[in-house]
Amino acid sequence: MNALPCEQAPELWFSETALGVEFAKAACIAECPLLNVCAEHGQNEPHGVWGGTSPDDRREAARERRAAAEDELNEQISTLLADKVSVRAMSSILGIPRKTLADRINRLELVS
Ligand code: SF4
Repeated sequence: MNALPCEQAPELWFSETALGVEFAKAACIAECPLLNVCAEHGQNEPHGVWGGTSPDDRREAARERRAAAEDELNEQISTLLADKVSVRAMSSILGIPRKTLADRINRLELVS
């Protein structure tokens, strides 16, 4: 197996310049057979280019995942509320403590 791009000039994968980071990202994407595995493995790494992503890319992706999870949970709660499911039952269904759930419902009702 040929050397992976990051093995040829590892310092570029931890570059502090935008140009270095962009070079590393492009090399990952264009040349590395481990791109997807590496991206998944490195998704919580605070430093360096992993799987064609910079730390900023990964932070943004994590924000998007959290926002999507929040939206999905709010949607589930709204559906259960519309079905007149009690907070107690909802707490059990969703695996969320009652107090936390009640606070969330109050916030949802304030914004709707
Ligand atoms: S995808 Fe991962 S293993 Fe492949 S070159 Fe980039 S950092 Fe290295």
